Amino acid sequence: MSRALPFFRYHPDPVATGAFKVSRETCGCCGQARGRVYTGGLYSRHEVPGPICPWCIADGTAAERFDGEFVDAYGLDGVSRDVLREVTRRTPAFSAWQDPRWLVHCHDAAAFRGEVGYTELTEHPEALDQLRTDLRLGGGWHDADRLDEFLRSLGHDASAMLFRCTVCGSHLAYVDAS
Ligand SMILES: [Zn+2]
Ligand SMILES: [Zn+2]
Repeated sequence: MSRALPFFRYHPDPVATGAFKVSRETCGCCGQARGRVYTGGLYSRHEVPGPICPWCIADGTAAERFDGEFVDAYGLDGVSRDVLREVTRRTPAFSAWQDPRWLVHCHDAAAFRGEVGYTELTEHPEALDQLRTDLRLGGGWHDADRLDEFLRSLGHDASAMLFRCTVCGSHLAYVDAS
């Protein structure tokens, strides 16, 4: 029960993000009660008989047995086939209001750090700058004052999904609104 959780390169703290919870339930894949289960689902055509344990996600057993994916490939452009498979089939997803998107930096998938508000974002000025640029160019936020006001409100109606590049270490984010 006290076995250390497997390490997920692209989702390094799945307990803090809520992807795993303490549970006595048995895993729908290995049939063992291992103390923690995944709170998300597995996209599969097959019926998955119960929650999946972290170990069956990490070693790819669950994705293989049910021929499914945990993470949608949305956002994962320009990464290698191996990285794509590791994120979609061997990484727990995170929940979001809108369709979750996985960010990419330095041609590798970035590691999901969690859902954050403005205060946490200010600790990563590069992520805040990148968000400001994305919203101005892609989101049509032309009024700099209103954009700043919106960014400062993050953590309430909308929040930011924070990632860290697995190659260069810089942080990046996107906005998720309810
Ligand atoms: Zn299992
Ligand atoms: Zn990078």
